[in-house]
Amino acid sequence: MPKILIVDDDVHLCAALSEEFQHWGYITFAVHTADDALEKAISFIPDIILLDLKMPGKGGFDVLRSLNSAGSTIPIIVLTAYADVRSAIDAAKLGASDFISKPYNVEELITAVNRLTGIKTLL
Ligand SMILES: [Mg+2]
Repeated sequence: MPKILIVDDDVHLCAALSEEFQHWGYITFAVHTADDALEKAISFIPDIILLDLKMPGKGGFDVLRSLNSAGSTIPIIVLTAYADVRSAIDAAKLGASDFISKPYNVEELITAVNRLTGIKTLL
């Protein structure tokens, strides 16, 4: 089963996303800090990462930078309430595959995840 690493300091959002993707057959793991995200990217080996940009301490850009310089090929979807063109461009330059604004549309998000993982689920 495909694995999703959910990275967001909002525990409620992580719970909602975990439930949603488990429903669609994904194995989920949620973390709330950039450091835990990097650790889990190695130990959990996700097929895809959902990444928040704004977290206390290190943020999503730090995660992107670290994974990018480590040569990671894990697809990353940035999920942020602060969606703007500059951030989207910066995230893309650092290897993000997609950029979705919060509050997210569930169908849009699942479609993007399925596309990037090659998984087919019925919406
Ligand atoms: Mg946040």
